[in-house]
Amino acid sequence: MSFGPRLAELRESIEAEYRQRTPASGAMHARAQRHMPDGDTRTGIAFAPYQTYIESAHACFLYDVDGNALLDFNYNATSLIHGHAHPAVVTAIQRQAARGTAWSAPNPLQIELARDLCERVPSLEQVRFCNSGTEANMQAAKAARAFTGRDRLLKMDGAYHGTYDGLELNATEARGIPRNVRDNVVLAPFDDAAAAERLIVANRHELAAVIVTPVFTRGGLIPPSPGYLAALRDITRAHGVLLIFDEVISFRLAAGGAQDLYGVTPDLTALGKVIGGGLPVGAFGGRAEIMRVYAEGEPPGLTHAGTFNANPLTMAAGLAALELLTVPAFQRLADLGGRLSHRLAAVIGDDSAFQVNRVESLVSLDPRPTTIEPAAAEVLRLIRLALLNHRINMPGLCAVATVMTEVDVDRLVDAFGEVLGTFGDLLVPTTSGGVSA
Ligand code: PMP
Repeated sequence: MSFGPRLAELRESIEAEYRQRTPASGAMHARAQRHMPDGDTRTGIAFAPYQTYIESAHACFLYDVDGNALLDFNYNATSLIHGHAHPAVVTAIQRQAARGTAWSAPNPLQIELARDLCERVPSLEQVRFCNSGTEANMQAAKAARAFTGRDRLLKMDGAYHGTYDGLELNATEARGIPRNVRDNVVLAPFDDAAAAERLIVANRHELAAVIVTPVFTRGGLIPPSPGYLAALRDITRAHGVLLIFDEVISFRLAAGGAQDLYGVTPDLTALGKVIGGGLPVGAFGGRAEIMRVYAEGEPPGLTHAGTFNANPLTMAAGLAALELLTVPAFQRLADLGGRLSHRLAAVIGDDSAFQVNRVESLVSLDPRPTTIEPAAAEVLRLIRLALLNHRINMPGLCAVATVMTEVDVDRLVDAFGEVLGTFGDLLVPTTSGGVSA
């Protein structure tokens, strides 16, 4: 596919600089292909020509295998809210590692983390731990099905809830998922309360739950319109359908997650990322009446086993991270997010094919709704690659961390301005809604 000579020229020079700057990463990329399909074990983080291999990280920097220090705005997909290797978290992990990492018995720390989460998040009366956001959503769905005795789930088309079959489905085909999984999934457009209501009413006798990321974070950052989440709450309640918030990312937006920010309390909540302090984690919970499906008794409780559930290492790291997550910390995150989005928006201006979206500490540079792919995606890839050449890691969804300063934020803004200068009018929308590539 051709995007025109200007973009081809830029691509050549940006990629050449990237290759020249990262030869060790290039060699590792080639080696990795031999042992792992596509050279990696994590979908969604690859980019052309190849990824940067990171060997260590500290505070707001990633250190790559070629000796480059990259200012990070990714923080492992928004999870390291205090930056990399925060001393308090490192100490907590070290202390616990020396005291054992897992055993088939509960530990005191899990009670502390469960209590902390229940105190923070409005919907959580009780909680259980698992090892990923995927599992947290899967178990929330399972609890909803067991509680209601119904099978179907309504999810928003395109939303990402991890890789559980029943929640991975979108309107586009998903290879490897049995066709009959679709029988139990209803898809609705995000942020459209009227459409959700129609679908909930039509499926009310089969619907166990509606699951939604309160802020849409896949392929762009979209906050909910005022009243949308409250409408979902009212409609589900009116029809005896449970409401699940996937707060795996949005927990970082306020002391009690997005449900606290928007003042809407779901029945069940799935968590992950931040609450593990950088170690693998998931948690799900909600009303005690629903969570009782996991209690032993009559009928027998649901199976939710897991060799590493609530392991003390993760619990220790999570507690250390949450202890630092104070009201002033959230204020600082919001201030940094605000500064980043305002300054980026000022750099791109009003007549760009792209726009800056922001919710608290999350910021995203997205094509305007009228901008047509795929040229926009290629322009975004090249902007990110050019920023890597400026030693800045700017992912699709940017997050700020409490250890960052205004200087760090301004460094991205300045580099972004320079990069945009080289793109010139490639970022201006064409009359047909494309980018002028
Ligand atoms: N839900 C959301 C909203 C997510 O963004 C993610 C991961 N990015 C998940 C669930 C899955 O979490 P995990 O990768 O820990 O399985």
